[in-house]
Amino acid sequence: MRNVADESFRDSIGTIDNEGKRVWIYPKKPKGWFYDKRKIVSYLLIIMLLVAPFIKINGNQLFLFNVLERKFSFFGVTFWPQDFYIVVIGLIICVVFVALFTVVFGRIFCGWICPQTIFMEMVFRRIEYWIEGDRGAQIRLNKQEWNAEKIRKKAIKGILFFLISFVIANVFLAYIIGSDQVLLMIKHGPFQHVSTFISLIIFTGVFYFVFAWFREQVCLIACPYGRLQGVLLDEKSIVVAYDYKRGEAEKGRAKFKKNEDRTEKGLGDCIDCSQCVHVCPTGIDIRNGTQLECVNCTACIDACDHMMESVNLPKGLIRYASENEISKKEKFKFTARMKGYSAVLLILVGILTGLMFLRSDVEAKVLRLPGQLFEHKGENISNVYTYKIANKTARDFSNVTFKIIHPKGKITLVGKQVLNIEKEAMIQGTLFIEIPQVLLEGDKTEVQLELYSNGELIDQTKTNFLGPRSFN
Ligand code: SF4
Ligand code: SF4
Repeated sequence: MRNVADESFRDSIGTIDNEGKRVWIYPKKPKGWFYDKRKIVSYLLIIMLLVAPFIKINGNQLFLFNVLERKFSFFGVTFWPQDFYIVVIGLIICVVFVALFTVVFGRIFCGWICPQTIFMEMVFRRIEYWIEGDRGAQIRLNKQEWNAEKIRKKAIKGILFFLISFVIANVFLAYIIGSDQVLLMIKHGPFQHVSTFISLIIFTGVFYFVFAWFREQVCLIACPYGRLQGVLLDEKSIVVAYDYKRGEAEKGRAKFKKNEDRTEKGLGDCIDCSQCVHVCPTGIDIRNGTQLECVNCTACIDACDHMMESVNLPKGLIRYASENEISKKEKFKFTARMKGYSAVLLILVGILTGLMFLRSDVEAKVLRLPGQLFEHKGENISNVYTYKIANKTARDFSNVTFKIIHPKGKITLVGKQVLNIEKEAMIQGTLFIEIPQVLLEGDKTEVQLELYSNGELIDQTKTNFLGPRSFN
């Protein structure tokens, strides 16, 4: 019988033995309702993941995370360093959303959406099953001497793993440096794009290492989200859980015996077949309770349902449930913590929506040159400024001119009077603003400027204008 007080299993992780050595996990091939549904979701997500960086909207990549050039694109909208505040709010929303989602649904993200789980379980693991067979066959193969069969199977697996890692590395790079760069390297060959090619080889190596060897250790040791579970989960969170009330009953779990009345004997419904343990890709026994290592992959639900069906007991001994549902038969409640997270999320989404509407495709900044005073020019007062214009779009802007809207005045650019700004480029320069002294509102006057391209208004901005103090 499960000893609820015995929490010693939490002192170690299932994939490391007492001597600190890696225990290799050979999960049994899952099958069942949840696995079939996960396959559909996973393959749709994989297609989206592979295709997304090659889709463009208005010339912008659908998703781009170019940290090197600090350029990000979400759903075809490009964000520049000038939009950093929007990116930060977007990231905070993601964190709050993930926190809320985890508080309510536990690690459902890990099992159904996380690219690590999807590629590991639905691509690499399935290739492994295909080449090396199920759990038993894999154990035997790894124990046996190196012979022709073992060399052949390991070589085919290694080559396939490497090729898939290479494809993933290409796509990963397309998200980081842009798909155009990756396609250029493919077109011109690696020798003309040496740095891109070196990055590609490094990432291929990293992915190969992760999927061929490191595997579940990513979720157990490396993933920060996994480490947060202890803080986010509570007894009301829905997780993949073993119904210990039903599974253990009064006298605990016991092997199945034909024609035995388990209820009469006080035995639980768990027939101690260990199938839930054998299918677990992180090597845990879910019957010990919710554990940090559980990635909510549902493989144990399918395995247990199958066993329950085969011994004519109701399914759902392992299922999505909260601790309170199992221990107190409590139905799901929208708790104060969930309401709090939801309120914060709604406020942040509201702020983000507002900022998105206010954000312009072209951003002009006109700032007074530091340390420069105003100058008298006849009836006028002149101030000198630096300007920066960032074109955040994937189209060129030609015949770009400044206009002074308020108060009346004159703008003179140093150098060219008409500017051209290429796509995703930034230009800067110096300009003078002259305003009749009589129109000044004091020693500091706010000046409103507009930026036009071929007569089309593309941005508005403000700056300060200094004048003589005597006009106050
Ligand atoms: S305990 Fe179950 S849901 Fe959790 S990782 Fe193992 S098999 Fe997946
Ligand atoms: S699969 Fe179900 S019946 Fe078998 S050991 Fe696990 S919980 Fe018990």
